[in-house]
Order: sequence, then structure tokens, then C-alpha cells
Amino acid sequence: MKTEFSLAQLADPDIAEADKILRACVHCGFCTATCPTYVLLGDELDSPRGRIYLMKEMLEKDQTPTAEVVKHVDRCLSCLSCMTTCPSGVHYMHLVDQARVRIEQRYQRPLADRLLRRLLAFVLPDPRLFRLSMRLARIARPLAVLLPTPRPSATPGLIQRIRAMLALAPDRLPPPGPSAGRVFAALGKKRGRVALLQGCAQQVLAPRINQAAINLLTRHGIEVVLVRDEQCCGALTHHVGDDQDALARARANIAAWRKEAAGEGLDAILVTTSGCGTVIKDYGYLLREDRELAADAARVSALAKDITEYVAGLGLAPTARQDNIVVAYHSACSLQHGQKITSLPKELLSKNGFVVKDVPESHLCCGSAGTYNILQPDLAGRLRDRKVANIASVKPDMIAAGNIGCMVQIASGTSVPVVHTIELLDWATGGSRPALTSSR
Ligand code: SF4
Ligand code: SF4
Repeated sequence: MKTEFSLAQLADPDIAEADKILRACVHCGFCTATCPTYVLLGDELDSPRGRIYLMKEMLEKDQTPTAEVVKHVDRCLSCLSCMTTCPSGVHYMHLVDQARVRIEQRYQRPLADRLLRRLLAFVLPDPRLFRLSMRLARIARPLAVLLPTPRPSATPGLIQRIRAMLALAPDRLPPPGPSAGRVFAALGKKRGRVALLQGCAQQVLAPRINQAAINLLTRHGIEVVLVRDEQCCGALTHHVGDDQDALARARANIAAWRKEAAGEGLDAILVTTSGCGTVIKDYGYLLREDRELAADAARVSALAKDITEYVAGLGLAPTARQDNIVVAYHSACSLQHGQKITSLPKELLSKNGFVVKDVPESHLCCGSAGTYNILQPDLAGRLRDRKVANIASVKPDMIAAGNIGCMVQIASGTSVPVVHTIELLDWATGGSRPALTSSR
């Protein structure tokens, strides 16, 4: 794609990067077929190619984003399916991230939209506030019937979003998991030492996931540390264009992990929420212009591993076969498109005795996508229903996924139990059986 940035514009490293990305696009349109919003809406402006044109125009002309551009960029899930499909290697993620930052800096959203986004950015990354908000939402849920019922719309209003928020609150919250600073000693001969990302929403909604990871790792000789002073990885604010908040969190995490690595050492930083893993693996890029931290950020990105990547090297062996359990594996977008981890979790599950089924249209997002299921409830709901129907077609006993957002989203549309891949691997290798109830 031909671009016309001025030399002055190209002096900005972000614009230079955007120029490189845009020039790689040959407008072939292959990406449209695998884009969930194009599949649902059939509008070129809701396809990757259409959005690329809109973003190019906005950046090149140095324009204040128009309401039309914002609408179509907001509808993008950042699922990155287009990056998997693109034959030219267009780095859509870095382009859309830049567009979101531009929108947040220069576009004046309606007041209600601004307040809701600020509230989400304030509450979600803080486990204490998130826990409190889930309790309040559960109390307020019966009052949702008093709200007017707006017509489903791909351009949602505040009421639709409040309804979506209330609907996502679980009936019960589990007790908190282990606190930061704890170290779990390896059982038997020590083979390694890792940090396990504590996460924010996941530690409130499902601390059992990291507990399963700790159980499996320590049983296989790995010492696990929950690093003190670790924060939300920044994904939640990064995806709504608040790069200052996201970068501050990245810097704080890098400092915390660097200190831990300089002390007793770290072989890896393990992540059980693939949405977070994708962002941490990108810290090196996000902080590439930071003279003080660029090298440390790159080191952290290299140390970051999805839990399945790390446990694949531990030589897991099943202690009991689960041949009668059919598992539908849901491939989270952040894992399959963001981190290019596709077959490994399925191989691990089947090597450890489960009957693993692929889900039709597995490349399509479930609609979770960070805060997307709150900010775009109609599109998110349609994607969830499509995903749940595809999952039901393989008649599973359980659904496995590697990302808490997907787990909550899918569980809200099915009675089939949804578990994390690591919970099944822990069970198969001597841990306890995961709770076989749906999360609602
Ligand atoms: S597939 Fe890649 S090169 Fe083709 S239009 Fe989409 S982004 Fe551009
Ligand atoms: S990230 Fe997903 S929703 Fe956004 S343009 Fe690409 S395929 Fe479509």
C-alpha cells in the first residue's frame, strides 16, 4: 500500500512503524474472510482491510479521528485472526494499538462512554476493586429488570453495556488464592524456578487455575514464586488505548521481575491467561524506545511463556487415563493468533489421556476480548452464541481454554463445564479433579 507520510511525520518512531506496516499491505482482502466482525456484519469498514484504510487516512492526514473511524476501530476485537491469515505479514496489532491511542488522545467520546471506560480501566486491573465490583454487581443484578430493554445494536448505548456488565458477574466468588510474595518449594529434586503471573481478574474469578499450575509445577520439581510488587500486565488499559497506564504497569512489572531474577533467579515468567501473555511477550516492542528499560523489557519478553509452553518441556506423564472424557479445546485468540500456540495444548491434553476435539470455526473469536463483551455486548453475544453452537456440535463433556476471559464468556452461554487446560493437565498427572460445574 502506498503511503504519503511527510519526512517530519516519519521522524516519529510510531509513525515510522505505522508506515512500515501499511506498506506491507497489498490489499488482497484475504483477511476479510477470517475477521469475526466482517463475518457478522459484511461491511468492508468492519474488516481488517477496511480498518487499515481508515487508520492510514487518520494517521497520514494527522486528523482528529471522526466518529465513523472510532466506530469501526472500536468494533475490532483485536483478536488478530487477520494476522494469522495475512500472507504479507502485516502487523495489524501494532497498527490498531497505535490507532486506539490516537483515538483516546484526540477524540472526545460522549460523556457516558468516557465514564464507563474510565471506570473499567480503574476497577479491572485492581483485584480488590474488581472483587468489590463483582459483589456489587451481583447485588444489583435483580434490578436489571427495571432497566428499559434497548433493541440489540452493533452501536450499543449505556444501558446495553450496564446490562452486559451485570450479566457477567458470577453468582459466587471463590476465596482469594495465595498472596504475593509466597514461594512454593519444589517437591523432590529441584529442576527449575519460575515466576507465575498472578493476574488481576483471574485471581478473583478463578484462583483455582494458578493453584493447579502451582500443584503441577511443584510436583514436577519446579519452585514457583508469586513475585511481590507485580501488577496487572497492562493489557486491559492497553486495549482501550491508555498507553500511559499500560506502560507504567509494564515498567513496574519489569522492575519487580528483574529484582527477583537478580536474587534467586528465574528460568521463566509463566502466564496462565493468554491475553496477558501476548502483551508481556510484546513488552520488548512497547518499550523499544525506552533507553533505560529497553534491554530489560526484551529480556522479560523472552522469559515470558504460556504455561503450556513450559510444561511441555517437563515430560508430563498421566497417572490415570481419562479416555472417557471428551474435551472440546477452545483456542483463545491471544494464544493461537497472538502467540502462535495452536496445536501444543491439544497435544498435551491428548498425550495425557483426554479425547480432544477441535471446534469448528476455531479461528473465530468467542467475543470476550478484554472489555469487548461489555463495550460491544451485541456483537460479543452473537460471537458467543456462534462459538457455543460450534462447541456443542462436538458433544463435549468439558471445554478447555487457556484464557479466563474466554472461559467466562463461553460459560455464560453453556451448561458444559469450562476449565483451564492446566487444570486438566494437573488432574491427569496426579492432581485433584477440577470442579465439574459450569462457572455460573
Ligand atoms: S490479508 Fe494482509 S495484505 Fe491482504 S488486505 Fe489483509 S492485511 Fe492487507
Ligand atoms: S483483529 Fe480481529 S476483529 Fe480486528 S480486524 Fe483483525 S480479524 Fe477483524
